[in-house]
Amino acid sequence: VSHTTRLQLVPLGGLGEFGLNLMVYRFGGDCLVVDAGMMFPGEEHLGVDVVLPDLSFLDDCGTLRGLVLTHGHEDHIGAVPYLLSRHAIPTFGTPFTLALVRRRLAERHGPSAPDLRPLGDAPLRLGPFVVEALPVAHSIPQSRMLAIRTPVGTVVHTADFKLDPQPLDGIGADRARLRALGQEGVLALLSDSTNADRPGTTPPERSVEAPLDQLVAGARGRVLVTTFASHIHRVQLLGRIAARHGRRLALVGASVRAHADLAEGLGLLPLPNGTRIAPEALADLPVERTLIVASGSQGEPLSAMSRIALGQHRHVRIDDGDLAILSAREIPGSARSIGRLVNHLMRRGAEVVTPVEAPVHVSGHGSRDELREMIDLLQPRFVVPIHGEYRQLVAHARLAADAGLGSRRVQVADSGDVIALDERRIEVVDRVHVGRVYIDGAADEVDLAVLRDRRRIAGDGIVIPVVAVDRDSGTVNGDPEIVVRGVASGGDGAEEELLAEARAVVSGALAAATPEERRDEALLRARLQNELRRFLRRRTQRRPLVIPVILGV
Ligand SMILES: [Zn+2]
Ligand SMILES: [Zn+2]
Repeated sequence: VSHTTRLQLVPLGGLGEFGLNLMVYRFGGDCLVVDAGMMFPGEEHLGVDVVLPDLSFLDDCGTLRGLVLTHGHEDHIGAVPYLLSRHAIPTFGTPFTLALVRRRLAERHGPSAPDLRPLGDAPLRLGPFVVEALPVAHSIPQSRMLAIRTPVGTVVHTADFKLDPQPLDGIGADRARLRALGQEGVLALLSDSTNADRPGTTPPERSVEAPLDQLVAGARGRVLVTTFASHIHRVQLLGRIAARHGRRLALVGASVRAHADLAEGLGLLPLPNGTRIAPEALADLPVERTLIVASGSQGEPLSAMSRIALGQHRHVRIDDGDLAILSAREIPGSARSIGRLVNHLMRRGAEVVTPVEAPVHVSGHGSRDELREMIDLLQPRFVVPIHGEYRQLVAHARLAADAGLGSRRVQVADSGDVIALDERRIEVVDRVHVGRVYIDGAADEVDLAVLRDRRRIAGDGIVIPVVAVDRDSGTVNGDPEIVVRGVASGGDGAEEELLAEARAVVSGALAAATPEERRDEALLRARLQNELRRFLRRRTQRRPLVIPVILGV
């Protein structure tokens, strides 16, 4: 059976898993890619900084007409440098999205002259596809959903969305336009399943303003808030609240600052005059006149928030009576590092408020009533749940079936499934190769994990520092052991010499750490890895695999 007259949807990531969002639309020999995201590695991916979808399918997909980006979150743009270095295709996005893409390309050594083009209101013709970008509310500015006209009908791709009736920037979903599309006829709706198991409606972004305001009003010392760096609207709210209570707003951490700078440059972060100050200026202000927003909402070991919590930040201290607010959700897999962060903050005497204690965070994704409203507005022939783990896809599928589609017009699929559809039916017809690619930020090496580790060990060697730390006192037991294979070159004694120097680096890092830090295994591991990598790169011009082992005794 030939499928050339049917539209194919090929998700290379994002279905049945959290992150890695990438959907290929294929008609005949033409392909259109929507989003190219990454996934944050879990603690089990030792030494890996980024997880990306395997893109080998794109090598023989036919003519790649373009890459359209719905918004600037990492799970939608994180794989762009990797994709564009393999396929130089025109890439479309809103100005804020493209600004974040440029930053990513520079960081990840992507192509230096990428073909980046603005995604405006005018329909975009890309081969057999005509793409219309529609505004939608989400937890990052300038998010878009897409209406993609294909030879077999219109497909609406929501990407991430919520139906916030009064978003902070005033730009939410255009219900009239969506209803008009529904009346014209929508073949398929590919819709966000992230919150498909949450009843009701996601509260609007404005709903966090009153609880945050109340907390700041009652604070006597510093107020320290952490949120996602890209959550510009949250930063805007915090700036407004700071000004209202006579506080100045300081942003600390490279990622929070970079995002805010890009947004301010595009006029997307309006703050009351004179509210924002540089972190260096904090020293000149009484603590009760400051509100600090720091990166590291997931307790990332080397982030500004973690350094503050450990009393190690250059510009920000945390003391008895200060207030720390975690205005972010917990990304799956971060529970332990967030727990450590809260412990460290409390140990320094701070009061800590998380979304468990007060409604200081709301999701950027619509709940069940919003998913239902999207279906009611668009009246699609078929629904394909996207963006979610399998259980969320299934919850969304049931919701769609109950909305009047029946189960035969709803297609649950996994990453790698080839979904074929036309006016009459939808089905999974094939499977393509999908997988994950692991990238090490220090080395920018790209390979499958095992392959990467093996090549790395074969080419650059491996270094394993072993450190025993007393869990109670935080003291180091004995000298650090270091196992080195395949790193030293040169004459006799070269390895001994390298080993002695590496041991000194480890001892130095341990001595510089406080007992509190030494008890924090994840932090200590990250730190030793960082310092040893730096030393070895300088000393040997190699990038061996560094795997610290911390023995808690
Ligand atoms: Zn998003
Ligand atoms: Zn997303």
